[in-house]
Amino acid sequence: MAIAVLQPLKRQPITERPGLLIKPEMLDWLQQAVDGPTEENAKTPAPPVDKPWDSPLLKSCPVVDRGLQQRLVAMPLQLSRINAAPTNYGERVHLDAQGQRIDPTPAVIVLHETVYSLGSAINTFTTPHPNDADQASYHTLVGQKGEIVQVVDPSKRAYGAGHSAFDGRWVFTSKHFSGSLNNFALHVSLETPPDGATSGQQHSGYTPAQYDALSRVLADWMVRYKIEPHAITTHRHVDLGNARSDPRSFDWSALQTRLTALGLVC
Ligand SMILES: [Zn+2]
Repeated sequence: MAIAVLQPLKRQPITERPGLLIKPEMLDWLQQAVDGPTEENAKTPAPPVDKPWDSPLLKSCPVVDRGLQQRLVAMPLQLSRINAAPTNYGERVHLDAQGQRIDPTPAVIVLHETVYSLGSAINTFTTPHPNDADQASYHTLVGQKGEIVQVVDPSKRAYGAGHSAFDGRWVFTSKHFSGSLNNFALHVSLETPPDGATSGQQHSGYTPAQYDALSRVLADWMVRYKIEPHAITTHRHVDLGNARSDPRSFDWSALQTRLTALGLVC
């Protein structure tokens, strides 16, 4: 299993992306992205047909835990702000590579994990990376103790996913790179526990403090950008290269009980 989660292959040239599984039916679309618009392919390539997102948040309605509810409602959104290096994120764009108008409003939230420590992730994002292949960032990190660290302002485009799409939607921001959801996505990453710094399929999971803090971050984004619970998804689901599996060992019920207590689900 590949878990190079901190190198999301934001916008590598198609021919240089290691491990990319290019399906025959995708080649025309990808070639259009490389060649740019011609009379024959002036439209934005359509994303590959993918399986629909079946949100675990919507499968049931848990009983609201009043104690949890009181605690979360009273919990302030305490952010530490650290600026990612300017090479590692960009502006949300209003025109795609073909010059067509697109809506950059955040419409999907992608969950990730850091694999290594919070400090390691911060170091990666604050280090300038001149090469496209090394440029990566999330908007927000959530540490094991519930620390919330904003690395990229939500108004900017974090480079959290590479070749990716959600609900049949992606954006080509450059004719040199493949389609991605970064232009309309918010990315949040959970600090992986120490036993997860391996290529294993699972680890010991995330702390209650992390789920509390994550729900607080998501509540802020859901209200601010009118994002429905259905549009909270994973890097594993949106990745079209079949190379990402994060966040591993994620407890959807822990998030569901919290978002329900906050009145955002059910
Ligand atoms: Zn990821």
